[in-house]
Amino acid sequence: MPANIRPISRDVPLIQLGVYQCRYPVSEDRSVPGGHRFCAAPTSADRVYCDHHHSIVTAVDPRRARPGLQLPHRRAA
Ligand SMILES: [Zn+2]
Repeated sequence: MPANIRPISRDVPLIQLGVYQCRYPVSEDRSVPGGHRFCAAPTSADRVYCDHHHSIVTAVDPRRARPGLQLPHRRAA
């Protein structure tokens, strides 16, 4: 049984992250390589974030968050 898979989110430095652990940075820590600690909750095989953080990341996708932001097409006649 892999010892590096944790059932709940914990601050984990990048070097301790497993392949299927959430890579969402949850806190800063200058004492670890990369300067951040990560969620490390279990992820699906095709995702780098856990379900919780995946929903956060997709919610703030600028292409989805700003449907009205487009290049202006109208011109003054
Ligand atoms: Zn996460």
